[in-house]
Amino acid sequence: MSKLKIAELFYSVQGEGRYMGVPSVFLRTFGCNFKCAGFGMPRGELSAEAEELSEVAHLYNRYEELPLVSTGCDSYASWHPSFKNLSPVLTSEAIADRIAEIIPHGEWKDEHLVITGGEPLLGWQRAYPDLLNHPKMAGLKEITFETNGTQKLTPEFKEYLIDWNDWNREITFSVSAKLPCSGEKWEEAILPEVVCEYEEVGTAYLKFVIATEQDFADAECAIGAYRSAGFKGHVYLMPVGGVESVYALNNRAVASMAMNAGLRYSDRLQVPLFKNEWGT
Ligand code: SF4
Repeated sequence: MSKLKIAELFYSVQGEGRYMGVPSVFLRTFGCNFKCAGFGMPRGELSAEAEELSEVAHLYNRYEELPLVSTGCDSYASWHPSFKNLSPVLTSEAIADRIAEIIPHGEWKDEHLVITGGEPLLGWQRAYPDLLNHPKMAGLKEITFETNGTQKLTPEFKEYLIDWNDWNREITFSVSAKLPCSGEKWEEAILPEVVCEYEEVGTAYLKFVIATEQDFADAECAIGAYRSAGFKGHVYLMPVGGVESVYALNNRAVASMAMNAGLRYSDRLQVPLFKNEWGT
């Protein structure tokens, strides 16, 4: 039986991208290959919020107690080693049982599953088939992997997903490719050939977090690189902002940029609806 290290497992409304507004189970795996400390910071500077919180990590016993951050990665506890004790290792059976407890009818109906992170396509790829094959997951029809678009699918997992997709079901890759405003390096973050491979399995779209005109210029450059590699999917622009004060500063401006460029706008419904609290 496979096991996964789970940062969070909760039921909410998908706030971003293609499935915005759809009731969804969020399975947040632990671990990420990035830190994204540049979000919300002046260009070239990195946020120290996650590191400062890591020094007092012992004060927190549950995700719900963790402070929100206004800069850097808003899900820092899902990858920072200082918070790994908050993320239990669960069997696929325990996860399936828990999901059956939190969805309204005790079984999958119109809900969709979001496998997020951290970065959910790290080593956990080998564990997902056991979970998805569990009898309590039988009614599930739609899955989204929320990924940063840097992890290749293993041949075994790719084959599994193609087969899963064949049964009147849908797999989506929501690719939040990291622009320089994230603080990550372009050559490590913008990997078009990886994302093009996702399109061989299901629907993939790009979602760029935008705060400034410079970010938009970077997004256009990245879109060019993905298109040159053969990427066909939709592109969303989404405002930066894990807290309302930051989000409210630029959501209208980002919506205008998206409209003017003929791109899609993605909100972050979890910010106005739930203040982006952990577990929402
Ligand atoms: S890729 Fe996502 S989860 Fe990982 S550090 Fe960046 S924003 Fe956070």
